[in-house]
Amino acid sequence: MIEEQVARERILQAVPEAVGEILPIAACLGRRSIASVSARVALPGFDNSAMDGYAVRAAEAVAGARLPVGGEQPAGRDLGIALGEGQAVRIFTGAPMPQGADAVVMQEDTEREGDSVVIVEAPEEGEFIRRRGSEVCEGQQLIRAGDLITAQRIGLLASQGIAELAVGGAPRVGVLSTGDELVEPGADLGPGEIYNSNRPMLAAMAARVAPGAMAVRGFHASDDLEVLRAVVAEALAESDVLVIAGGVSVGDRDLVKPVLETCGVEMDFWRVRMKPGKPFLFGRSGSGGLVFGLPGNPVSAFVTFEVFVAPALRRWMGAREDEVMPRPIPATLGAAAENPGDRPHYLRGFFDPGDGRFLPGQLQQSHALNGLARAEGLLRLEADERLETGAEVRVFPVA
Ligand code: AMP
Ligand code: MG
Repeated sequence: MIEEQVARERILQAVPEAVGEILPIAACLGRRSIASVSARVALPGFDNSAMDGYAVRAAEAVAGARLPVGGEQPAGRDLGIALGEGQAVRIFTGAPMPQGADAVVMQEDTEREGDSVVIVEAPEEGEFIRRRGSEVCEGQQLIRAGDLITAQRIGLLASQGIAELAVGGAPRVGVLSTGDELVEPGADLGPGEIYNSNRPMLAAMAARVAPGAMAVRGFHASDDLEVLRAVVAEALAESDVLVIAGGVSVGDRDLVKPVLETCGVEMDFWRVRMKPGKPFLFGRSGSGGLVFGLPGNPVSAFVTFEVFVAPALRRWMGAREDEVMPRPIPATLGAAAENPGDRPHYLRGFFDPGDGRFLPGQLQQSHALNGLARAEGLLRLEADERLETGAEVRVFPVA
């Protein structure tokens, strides 16, 4: 049995170097930039007005001054207007500043009287002018290699006139559920049967971490050696990352480990000192793919995916080492929490809607899917650790 941290390091080491692909920026949401991106154009690109109002010289636009309006400068084309002495130019948000103007008075601080404008509130020099390059100058680094491409970053890239980006390729992910007792949602349950909840859950988790992962593919095998072997072989051939749920424990019907060994998967480790998730296994396929065996209990499958599979997927897609795990959120415990066991325990919990404190859920068993569905975070307790109400903790967010 190995420690969680060691297990994660071994997994991350096995992830191949990210291979890039070039995509239109609109298709990059959730992907990782494979190179750094520097600004091609300054932002703002030219001095422009931050308000609808009047461009003036601050020294002339004192309170009560009545200035003839010498022109109108809309956004979208630079009319090259020069501000005449003692005059104002009507201007709109985003419009280029007229030559000679050094402030904008916002419309609400003026009164229009025919061809003139009366200044009600005098502007300061420079007021409401967005200066060229005041936010971004040419050549400035905007995105680092490994950065997650968010909607805001897609906006930033677009503001630079960048239409395509090189991002880390997403792996083909296969999710294979195992078990004679499983029935697909939508079908009828027989006695002793349960619905297959892991496969859709794990597929959704993979799709969230690795968006664009050429449609996560689902597989299922019964607890029969020959069936499992055939399905594993097929799934291995079609996946860069294969996530198998169930059948990894020590029962007579837990056939995943022996089957993987006959399918050319080189076992790296089996069993990790953590709860839930002890029987977790990891290996490498002959073609360099990653193979994860998750315990079948839904909470165990969820937690081991979060702490082992998701970091590997992020790394595969080009995330930097410091971003493969979600950043823990500092929180105050709203109730005492205890781990009497001899393995670190990930407790599921949520933030109290009233005071924002973190509350571990009541039912912490590894089949408790309803509690998991309410969880907003995981709290890791060391073996034998007890934390009192009010303790400062760090919670791993789960979405
Ligand atoms: P196993 O790891 O195969 O021994 O399964 C442990 C527990 O998880 C058993 O109660 C299984 O019925 C349950 N289980 C396994 N796979 C799934 C699945 N895909 N969906 C829901 N429960 C599962
Ligand atoms: Mg099973």
